[in-house]
Amino acid sequence: MKSIYEQTVQSLETYFKEKNYPTFYAKELFTWLYKKKITSIDEASNFSLDLRCQLQKDFSFDSLEILEKQLGKDVSKYLFRLSDKEHIEAVLMEHDYGLSLCISSQVGCNMGCKFCESGRRKKVRNLETYEMVLQILEIEKQEQRRISHVVIMGIGEPFDNYDNIIQLIQIINHDKGLNIGSRHITVSTCGIVPKIEEFTNFPYQVNLAISLHAPNDSLRKEIMPIAKVYPLEELMKALKNYTKKTNRRLTFEYILLDGINDKEEHALELVSLLKGINAYVNLIPYNETTHLQYKRSKPLTIAKFYDILKKNKVCVTIRREFGGTISAACGQLRSEKEEI
Ligand code: SAH
Repeated sequence: MKSIYEQTVQSLETYFKEKNYPTFYAKELFTWLYKKKITSIDEASNFSLDLRCQLQKDFSFDSLEILEKQLGKDVSKYLFRLSDKEHIEAVLMEHDYGLSLCISSQVGCNMGCKFCESGRRKKVRNLETYEMVLQILEIEKQEQRRISHVVIMGIGEPFDNYDNIIQLIQIINHDKGLNIGSRHITVSTCGIVPKIEEFTNFPYQVNLAISLHAPNDSLRKEIMPIAKVYPLEELMKALKNYTKKTNRRLTFEYILLDGINDKEEHALELVSLLKGINAYVNLIPYNETTHLQYKRSKPLTIAKFYDILKKNKVCVTIRREFGGTISAACGQLRSEKEEI
């Protein structure tokens, strides 16, 4: 059975039309689900009993079980149990501009980035659209607060689950639903070129972030196997086209790994790689994990790297850190409960 939480307003309009109900019911149903946050269709009191029975027959009204919530400073990590007993995590961050939620897109991940804890477990499956929508909805219910920003940067590679990500964006962006502005949604990819090309034509002003982490192919191939499939030249070509066609600014994420990609020559190489592209670089101090050997760059090295980019007129920030103490930081999320 189809989940009610993976219907778009459009698909619901089609549904109501087929069943001979007014199409504006689609928006009303969205309001019941996402603004009033009903837990049973019987709460949708302006729908007739017949209609409620019909909806109950045609759709499943799923929920996502929150198994655990860990609190840190300005950050909480949620562990969810899925209906097949798999686990995923989402991380809620308090910013001065609102609440931002980092959601997972897959159980496990096949990209195999050497420095990433989440990727140590191979992909088990893609998350269904409703499992991503419900990460947001269940946390809003629990917190009784509105989530204003969503980043798809948790466990998994979103562009390896492309169709569901597109559907997710259409659902959470709708103003009768969660109403998360497209400029407040960020998708982060390790660089799956054909999907970047497809995304270029997606008519929503969503932010795109690229996990770059190395300024040349040989280094990138060492730490990110995806670079063997899509070399930098192809990636940069697709990204230039993306910025040209969409007029949107890209974000490049660059983790600083001690002695690996944090030297002066790397900073200079990065400057020339990004020449002429509308982008900014987010430098990420590496979050060390117990299973992996990489170390965080020294504060002085990070500052030097930052200065070189700045001096060369690259827009650059150093990522504010969240969640280190509760293992909720980038690359620390796991999908195996036993090992958390
Ligand atoms: N697969 C997607 C999204 C998930 S990873 C992607 O690659 O973009 C989200 C971000 O966290 C990526 O930039 C990833 O490279 C980074 N990351 C992974 N492990 C990390 C770690 N230990 N410390 C800091 N950032 C990490």
